[in-house]
Amino acid sequence: MTGSNSKIVLSGMRSTGRIHLGNYFGAIKNWVELQDRYDCLYFAADWHALTTDYADPSAVAANTLDAVADWIAAGLDPERSVIFVQSMVPEHAELHLLLSMLTPLGWLERVPTYKDQIREIENKDLATYGFLGYPVLQTSDIIMYRAHYVPVGEDQVAHLEITREIARRFNSFYGDVFPEPQPLLTPTPKVPGIDGRKMSKSYGNAIGLTEDPDTIRRKCMEMFTDPQRVRRSDPGRPEVCNLFRFHELLTPEAEREDIAIRCRAAEIGCVDDKKILAETMIEYLAPFRRRREELLADRDTLLDVLRAGSEKARERAIATMERVRAVVGLDYDALPVEAVTEPT
Ligand code: SF4
Repeated sequence: MTGSNSKIVLSGMRSTGRIHLGNYFGAIKNWVELQDRYDCLYFAADWHALTTDYADPSAVAANTLDAVADWIAAGLDPERSVIFVQSMVPEHAELHLLLSMLTPLGWLERVPTYKDQIREIENKDLATYGFLGYPVLQTSDIIMYRAHYVPVGEDQVAHLEITREIARRFNSFYGDVFPEPQPLLTPTPKVPGIDGRKMSKSYGNAIGLTEDPDTIRRKCMEMFTDPQRVRRSDPGRPEVCNLFRFHELLTPEAEREDIAIRCRAAEIGCVDDKKILAETMIEYLAPFRRRREELLADRDTLLDVLRAGSEKARERAIATMERVRAVVGLDYDALPVEAVTEPT
């Protein structure tokens, strides 16, 4: 047990490599804070990455290590949380298979993200069994640990509903095996990219959590600002300025207020503000960058952490699967010999 509360929190993220500020403020920062209050398990979802990257899986393992190095750099503590890799706990696949027996097709086809992603991800063939079954694997990830809570933002509560439905259906057949996981509402500020759209690697507008200072300076200089502020002498509008959203996340309140006042009075230009933001960001992210470098100084250290975390997760998964096999009628050790029918 890690946190001060015995309630279990589980969350995971697809292994897509180093994390960006959107991932940090939208999820990882909350994960770090939850460590003090709950028994937390966090995993890198490398099988989930394969649902879309199956044709070229060459980057999946490296992306997994890159992501976890950033998580730990951001403050996830392997002593307080169980940090593991999905594929290192193969019991997830077994539970996924058993859950797939009882999950109605219609439930999967109506998951809103399923159709959206098929439409949005154009260069990959996602008309596969694995991609359709994504929510079943997700359910197995969560209920395997009998998680009480899954941290989500308000707009993601619906995503958890199918997990709750599948758990409920399992329990209705086999008894009260799995608690229905509840959403744990956590603050998830919207983090824009440098171009004002949602920050996303696929848009090429992201700033990495452990990016080097020169790249941060360059990206801040490219950042979109108030589109109506054409000349230096025009008053600006921090409330609509894309760059100011970053001040809200990173800059101490008094300094931020001062920038807003000077912006509205046209006393500060956008180029100067970009420079201020860049230095603020570099300072804010410096400890993350330092921790990542320390962690990766010896690559085996990170792998050892992941193997140890996955072992801990696996102990719990094995216990769950013993119970699951028993209730679905696959506990052969418990079968009395008289139950085997004689040849006729
Ligand atoms: S001065 Fe700063 S807050 Fe004001 S419009 Fe320019 S970048 Fe945005």
